[in-house]
Amino acid sequence: MRVAPSVNPEHLYIHVPFCLRRCGYCDFAVTATRVAPVDVWLDSIIAELALRQRAAGRSTLDLKTIYIGGGTPSLLGVGAMTRLRDALRRFAAWDDSTVEWTAEANPESFSPQLAEDWAAAGINRISLGAQTFSRVALEWMGRLHGPQGPRRAVKAARAAGIDNISLDLIFALPSRIERDWAGDLDGVLDLKPRHVSLYGLTAEPATPLGRRVESGREIMADEDRYAAEYLLAVDRLGAAGFEHYEVSNFALPGAESRHNRAYWRHRPYIGLGPGAHSYEPPARSWNVRDWGEYSRRLHDGRSPAEGSEELGAGEVTLEKVWLGLRASDGLALDTLTGAQRDRVGEWERSGLAERADGAVRLTRHGWLLLDRLAVELEGAAG
Ligand code: SF4
Repeated sequence: MRVAPSVNPEHLYIHVPFCLRRCGYCDFAVTATRVAPVDVWLDSIIAELALRQRAAGRSTLDLKTIYIGGGTPSLLGVGAMTRLRDALRRFAAWDDSTVEWTAEANPESFSPQLAEDWAAAGINRISLGAQTFSRVALEWMGRLHGPQGPRRAVKAARAAGIDNISLDLIFALPSRIERDWAGDLDGVLDLKPRHVSLYGLTAEPATPLGRRVESGREIMADEDRYAAEYLLAVDRLGAAGFEHYEVSNFALPGAESRHNRAYWRHRPYIGLGPGAHSYEPPARSWNVRDWGEYSRRLHDGRSPAEGSEELGAGEVTLEKVWLGLRASDGLALDTLTGAQRDRVGEWERSGLAERADGAVRLTRHGWLLLDRLAVELEGAAG
């Protein structure tokens, strides 16, 4: 695939497909392993980037954000990020003083040594999978850290000079798991992160959780409980000064994730690694999910892309509707048809949306119904 040379994505995602153990609800592109094959991973990632640059006729990417996600990037251990940085420098440039370079970490594999190593490599933002402080809930999820793990990891990051910390929390666990959601929110605020991401638990069919739910051995939280926990989080985080800037994301002023914001604003980005997606207008592409297949293809000099599609003007508009509704930027009213504006009026009267500065933005109650409202707006496009 050849894309227009004028497209120069400023945002790079790199996937680390390794975890110590697969959590019971996870359907991400990950492989469970005790020791991550760092050399093969690094060679594969860089080989993919070299292929992409050649195909696009580009020599250097000018990056504004880098995001190392997973999986469990902290499983790569000391030294990997410095090697990655040095290898990336052959294909990309960025300003160390302004780049947002995030890496995800899990508490059990994030040591003070690793924190020092990541800071020295240039990582300046950590996204930590805290999830809950309840031992019972952590065990139920298959998580490997204990209730004190997030506190230790946050302390290690700060001691290394990384203060831009985001914490992930999961909500809507089955009610039989006695988990104190309000206590978990207090626990997160007590760690003074700059950013919090919420994940509502879902039972994906191909996971152990999905099979347990399917066979009636597990009962998921009902809609009321889901809504109550979400709204409690919105209230508590808002009262603590966090801005609710995307359906699931909260930030202190100025601490929004610039990388994720680029996705929501439909900016071009490159994704490297198994299962990663890229958007280089007008094309969107995605890689094979299986780590073995991904690394074999690159070892043989073949592209790891599983598919790609070109987005027409109508599809781009539709994507912008979906993405715009997710974020507090909202959707510019002058991009909507008359029928869509009528629908927005109905949402306003129901307390699901509000208008300001020529845009429509969903309220917290609207965000609880995001998927349904996006389909409604799509349908009203005519
Ligand atoms: S740590 Fe995250 S990516 Fe890894 S198995 Fe658990 S949920 Fe999936």
